[in-house]
Amino acid sequence: MNETAPPSNFIKTIIENDLKENKNEGRVATRFPPEPNGYLHIGHAKSICLNFGIAKTYQGTCNLRFDDTNPTKEEVEYVDAIKADVAWLGFQWEGREHYASDYFDQLFDYALALIDQGLAYVDSQSAEEIRRTRGTLTDPGSESPYRGRSVAENRDLFYRMKAGEFPDGTHVLRAKIDMAHPNVLMRDPTLYRIRHAHHHRTGDKWCIYPMYDFTHCLSDAIEGITHSLCTLEFENNRPLYDWVLDSVPHENHPQQIEFARLNLSYTILSKRKLIQLVQEGHVAGWDDPRMPTISGLRRRGYTPAAIRHFCDRIGLAKRDSVVDVALLEHSLREDLNAHAPRVMGVLNPVKLVIENYPEGQEESLEAINNPEDASAGTRQVPFSRELYIEREDFMEDPPKKFFRLGPGREVRLRYAYFVTCTGFDKDPETGQITTIRCTYDPATKGGNAPDGRKVRGTLHWVSAAHGLPAEVRLYDRLFNKPNPDEKEAGKRFIDNLNPDALKVLMNCRVEPSLKAMAAGSNCQFERMGYFCLDSRDTRPDHLVFNRIVTLRDTWAKVQKQQAARASTSKRRRRRER
Ligand code: ATP
Ligand code: MG
Repeated sequence: MNETAPPSNFIKTIIENDLKENKNEGRVATRFPPEPNGYLHIGHAKSICLNFGIAKTYQGTCNLRFDDTNPTKEEVEYVDAIKADVAWLGFQWEGREHYASDYFDQLFDYALALIDQGLAYVDSQSAEEIRRTRGTLTDPGSESPYRGRSVAENRDLFYRMKAGEFPDGTHVLRAKIDMAHPNVLMRDPTLYRIRHAHHHRTGDKWCIYPMYDFTHCLSDAIEGITHSLCTLEFENNRPLYDWVLDSVPHENHPQQIEFARLNLSYTILSKRKLIQLVQEGHVAGWDDPRMPTISGLRRRGYTPAAIRHFCDRIGLAKRDSVVDVALLEHSLREDLNAHAPRVMGVLNPVKLVIENYPEGQEESLEAINNPEDASAGTRQVPFSRELYIEREDFMEDPPKKFFRLGPGREVRLRYAYFVTCTGFDKDPETGQITTIRCTYDPATKGGNAPDGRKVRGTLHWVSAAHGLPAEVRLYDRLFNKPNPDEKEAGKRFIDNLNPDALKVLMNCRVEPSLKAMAAGSNCQFERMGYFCLDSRDTRPDHLVFNRIVTLRDTWAKVQKQQAARASTSKRRRRRER
C-alpha cells in the first residue's frame, strides 16, 4: 500500500499524548473484534481501516480477534469469510489471530476471583424476573433474593453450572455492583449464562458461556491491547468495561475509546438485517453485488484501494451522522478512472452497416487503453463493414440537440472513421429499427477529418463478426429510500427494497480483446460505466459483466455546485461591501 497518511483525528490525538507520556511503555496495540455471526460490511471496513491503520501509523500491532462467545449463532463459514475480507482489504494480522473462546479457562478463573471478593453471585431468578427487577432509566432496580449468597455457596453453584448439572436458564452469574446505579448496565449485569450448545471451537467442553461485557474487556487485557476502539453504542458499557478490569487481578487496563459508526444513505448496515435479506431470498447471497458486504462489493468490482480511500475521507467523529453513498461511489470512480482499462462494449445493440466499406474487408485499428495512464499502452480493435452500436445512439427523427446519429447526420466512430447515416430499416410489425445504414469517409481514419470538419458526437461500437456476446447486469441501489429503516406504519425495511436494483441484459456485444480478461477484473466500457467480469457466473463461452458504477459522478457534481454557490455568494458579499 502506497498511500498518503490519512488526516489526523481525535483518536490519534489521544494516542500521541499517551506516547508522549510513555503510557504503555510507548506501545500501541489495537484489535479488530468481529463476532463471527455474519459477513463483514462496509461499516466494518471503517473499523478495520481505523484499527489496522492506527497500528501501522504508530508501528504498533493490530490483532484479529473473533468474539465468539455465542455458540448458537456462530459458524466457521463466517470466520473464514471474515479473514478473507480483512486480507482482501489489504491488512495483515501476521499470525495474531485470536479467539475469545481461547480464553474461556482464564475467564472462568477471573469469575471465581470476583466471587471470592464478593463481587459476583449466582442468581437463580428466571431471565424474566431479572429483566423485571432491573428497574428503568428513572426507577432503580430491586435486589435479587439470591444476592446475599455466601462465597462458598456461589463457588459451589458456579462449579456445578460449569459441570452441566443445571438446564439452560436456571442460574446465571451476576456481578454485584449496584441495583440503583444510574447506568442500567451497572445494575448487577449478567456475566455468565448456561447454554448447552456446541461451540465451533471448544466443542462440548463448555455449557456456560461468558457475556460480551465480561469477555471483551478481559480479552483486551489478556492480549495487551492499549487502545480498545469501538463504536458509540458501547459508550454506556464503558463503566462496566472499567469495573471488570478494576475488579479482576490483571495489570493491563486498556482504554476504551468510542467513535461514530458508519451509516450510509440507501444502505443497511446491520448484520441482523443483512442476514434477513439473505435468508428470505431478497438477494442471491452474501456476495450478491447489491449487498454492502465486503464480499458483495468485491464481486461487484469495488477495489480495496477505493474502500480504504473512502474510509480515510469520511474521517472519525464522536457524533453519529449519515454519509452520502455518492461519496463511496466517488472514491470508487477515482480509483477506477486511474486504473481501469478502457474497452468498447455495446449493451443494447443495433446493427450499423457501412454500405461503401468493401464486403469481406476488415482492418485493425489502434485504441488507447487508458487516457489517464500512458503506460497502459494501446491495443488493436477489429473493424469491418457491419458493426453494432447502441440503440439509444440513433434517433429516427432527432431533435436539434441530439448529437448522435440520425438520418443525414455525421458522427465519429471511436478510433475509426466519420460515418454519415443514409437510412434505416424497420420491422414492419414491431416498428423496431433493425438496421441502420451509413457511408464512411476513408479520409477520416483514426477519427479526424483532414479538412478540419468537426462532428459533435463520438459513438462506441463493436464489429459484428468479431464481437463477443455477453450478459451484463446493471445494478442500482438496493433500497429506494435514503434511510431504508424509515418505515410507514405496518411496513418493514424490506418494503423499501428497490425492485429495479438489478436489470439483466442478455444480448450485449463486447470487443474481442475481452476474451483474455481475468474473472474479477475491471474495465470501463467507454461511455457506459465501469464493469467487472463476474467471478462466479462467467464461463469461457459466456461472459457476465457486473456494472460497478456509471460514469456520472453525482458527488463531484454536488461539490462543484457547492463551490460555485460559495464563490457566487463571496462575489456578492464583495460587491455589497
Ligand atoms: P450488528 O450489525 O449486529 O450491530 P456489529 O456490526 O457490531 O453487529 P461486530 O462483529 O461486533 O458486529 O463488529 C465488529 C467491529 O466492527 C466492532 O468493533 C464494531 O464496533 C465495528 N463496527 C460494526 N459496525 C460498524 C459500523 N457501521 N461502522 C464502524 N464500525 C462498525
Ligand atoms: Mg457488535
